[in-house]
Amino acid sequence: MKKSVLFFFAAVAMVGCHKQEQSFSYNVDKFYDLEVLRYQVPDYDSLSVQQKSLLYYLSEAALWGRDIVYDQNCRYNLRIRRALEQVYCHYADKQDPQFVLLEKYLKRVWFSNGIHHHYSEDKFLPEFDRQWFDKALTECGVSLDEEVKDVMFVPSLMAKRMCQTDGMDLILNSAGNYYGDGVTQAEAEQWYAEHKDDSAEPLWIGLNSRLVKDEQGEIQENVYKVGGLYSAALEKVVENLKKALPYAETEEQRVAIEKMIAYNETGDLELFNEYCIAWVRDLNSRVDYVNGFTETYSDPLGITGTWESLVNFKDIEATKRTKTISENAQWFENHSTTDPKYKKEEVKGVSAKVITAAMLGGDCYPATPIGINLPNANWIRKEYGSKSVTIDNLAHAYSEAAKGNGFDQEFMIDDDIRRLYEQYGVLCGDLHTDLHECVGHGSGKLMPGVSKDDLKEHGSTIEETRADLFGLYYLADPKLVELGLMPNQDAYKAGYYQQMMNGAMTQLVRIEPGKDIEEAHMRNRQLIANWVLEHATNSEVAIVEKDGKHYMQINDYEGLRRLYGELLREIQRITSEGDYEAAKQLVETYAVKVNQDLHKEILARYQKLNLAPYKGFVNPVYTPAYDGEGKITDVSISYSEGYVEQHLRYSQCYSPLPDIN
Ligand code: ZN
Repeated sequence: MKKSVLFFFAAVAMVGCHKQEQSFSYNVDKFYDLEVLRYQVPDYDSLSVQQKSLLYYLSEAALWGRDIVYDQNCRYNLRIRRALEQVYCHYADKQDPQFVLLEKYLKRVWFSNGIHHHYSEDKFLPEFDRQWFDKALTECGVSLDEEVKDVMFVPSLMAKRMCQTDGMDLILNSAGNYYGDGVTQAEAEQWYAEHKDDSAEPLWIGLNSRLVKDEQGEIQENVYKVGGLYSAALEKVVENLKKALPYAETEEQRVAIEKMIAYNETGDLELFNEYCIAWVRDLNSRVDYVNGFTETYSDPLGITGTWESLVNFKDIEATKRTKTISENAQWFENHSTTDPKYKKEEVKGVSAKVITAAMLGGDCYPATPIGINLPNANWIRKEYGSKSVTIDNLAHAYSEAAKGNGFDQEFMIDDDIRRLYEQYGVLCGDLHTDLHECVGHGSGKLMPGVSKDDLKEHGSTIEETRADLFGLYYLADPKLVELGLMPNQDAYKAGYYQQMMNGAMTQLVRIEPGKDIEEAHMRNRQLIANWVLEHATNSEVAIVEKDGKHYMQINDYEGLRRLYGELLREIQRITSEGDYEAAKQLVETYAVKVNQDLHKEILARYQKLNLAPYKGFVNPVYTPAYDGEGKITDVSISYSEGYVEQHLRYSQCYSPLPDIN
């Protein structure tokens, strides 16, 4: 449920709702379609020494999991990364054009935590040649199996990190390392079906394990835990969680950290449930974290979690905004366009806060979500609620870094909309993310006997569509003005324009010519925009041509809102009824295929701007100071580390796993 969207992935100039910083440099590096930014940690100095100490050890725990995500993404990744780093550090002729290409490739590997694009899932190939690489390896005293080099250089080998093609074996055709050699989709599905926990408070069987075949060909579960799979990394995670423990701010937080430690030590999923409950109950700590096998987007079967970490603390001022939204969750539920029979009688436990990210790790680094909504287990969400967060300092870094890059000039239809967007764009983005996370995902209910899994491979797209539409519908509601969240009844138009322009047009800059849209959030955005365009029979909104270029034009914002509402009603029905056929129909009609001519035009216009469609971050560096007894007296923060330096340091200091796991 995380990964709420880079609603403003190519945002433009800022409004006055954030503090301006003069000297801070947001832009760090740029290569291929990727840009590396730096984020600030505002109000860090408002933390107490206790809070800084807690944050420090949780950050260490975040960094120690880095190897895990490389290995989960592909079992060759660690060997490839290490060989490249060796050559990078020891090759003599740094001016060699082949070496320059290796550096570029290595930067890309770091960005994606492996050899597949972090977003498209496609393998990218080295531009340097293989004979040169062989020579360079020898010169640097590195040995690398031919098998591994084949995986790097041969296009057809492990071409896709995660296969989503209907009718293909999703496991055998995925390079991801979530299943052992030779385990087929049918075998894994059968194993999961046999071991499924149907109790009222089920264990998430398979969340923290790899299914492998033993010598007899029987499926066995290889659990991620201390003493099990990824032990060396998890031991260091545990060690740092233990160091963090004395600094816990609340009793709930102390319990949650203890459970997380015990869970890592045993792999016992009962402890993971207990951890989730304690974690979701801890609403009063300023410092908070995610650490462990969490989101299941990268497992082709959507069961096993990818390791991630995010250490953060509450942005007290901005949290007032999401608190207002949460407190009105029931009002939003009652007044949405959905059929009353699909509404929740009681929306409870929607806690929401705005956070400041302080350390990104595992699958949250370098590319990262800007919103998170956890835990993922439905029964815990129902019984105990969930925590929903918006990460403002990252969103802020995106907008700052994009200032004056020419994007809005090129793609927005006129000065009126540009002015509106400049004034309210960031606010609309923040509020949309809040509504999506705090009330969108938590809204609605399933009919008896219906499960979220009924929508199968289209489940994620439909769920994100539902949360996005919920947010869009309410962005324009006078209620937001009444609650003091929106300054006036025009501001929302900036958000509506952005959604339509991005969903139908500009997000296509992330897709290669001729390719389909695969990622769930991108599918959801195009689904909404294209459905609306087709149903805008009174020309509420249309794509128009001006001087040979195409633009989004909105003629009737109220009408557009009605269309969003209409689609929300249908998407909720599909979700509540588990109507797989209708979900498939919608996704296939509106979400997957790309208008080829429009795509070509957008790519050409975008290319002229020389921008990178994907962003990621470098982390700040935290350095503790100790007193005579070894007790932390302060933790300083520094922003000076560069991209290459940071990755080399992480690989040197936080890389405990063996090559093959
Ligand atoms: Zn979402």
